[in-house]
Amino acid sequence: MIELKTPQELKWMRRAGEVVGGLLVTLAALVRPGMKTRELDERAMAYLHDRGAQPAFLGYRGFPASICVSVNEEVVHGIPAEREICAGDLVSLDVGAVVEGFYADAAITVMVGPVSAQAKRLVQATSQALEEGIARAVEGNRLSDISHAVQQRVEHDGFGVVRDFVGHGIGRALHEDPPVPNFGPPHVGPRLKAGMVLAIEPMATLGRYDVEVLRDGWTAVTKDRSLAAHFEHTVAITEDGPEILTRPG
Ligand code: MG
Repeated sequence: MIELKTPQELKWMRRAGEVVGGLLVTLAALVRPGMKTRELDERAMAYLHDRGAQPAFLGYRGFPASICVSVNEEVVHGIPAEREICAGDLVSLDVGAVVEGFYADAAITVMVGPVSAQAKRLVQATSQALEEGIARAVEGNRLSDISHAVQQRVEHDGFGVVRDFVGHGIGRALHEDPPVPNFGPPHVGPRLKAGMVLAIEPMATLGRYDVEVLRDGWTAVTKDRSLAAHFEHTVAITEDGPEILTRPG
């Protein structure tokens, strides 16, 4: 069942979204060559603490950090640690926060210094795919209209759409119904209604879309070790269209 949020619940989710959007922009501006991914986690922890928010990922099924930092062939769920960021890297930052028991979740891929032309196209296509998906998050559409729009945009440029991880409903929990795949035919699945809140999160690859999880039990990498990009927003469906709760102010 897909829960419809009340106006009061949406208020708290807006607040959580504001924190997440602000944190993502702050972290993206900090990313530079020579930095360890662990430093970003420390900054995130302090940022959330200062705003009275809790990190949504810390302790989630045992995840050991506040944010996910996934570099190059790492698609999602990278654990911030001693890996050093280099010029030319793609660094995907995934952030979740809890405010008054309500969650928001968002991600961006940062290009560190000059990256290859292909890498840049991958990042742009993934970012645009998110925008295309969000544009379909309107009352009366069906869920897979979002999925289809994302897939079309990513595959238009010849990139791969990851199948093994998908977007999700969000609210009182980080992951609620429905799952939001980034692929599939249009016009199927539940009808979208005002009050639904979805985390839409395309993950795209330069090569094949197959992924595997490393022995740390978390880090998902492309099987062919090609580059990956990941963008995400928490989006409320309203009578006036999609409202991006994690859009930085
Ligand atoms: Mg998510």
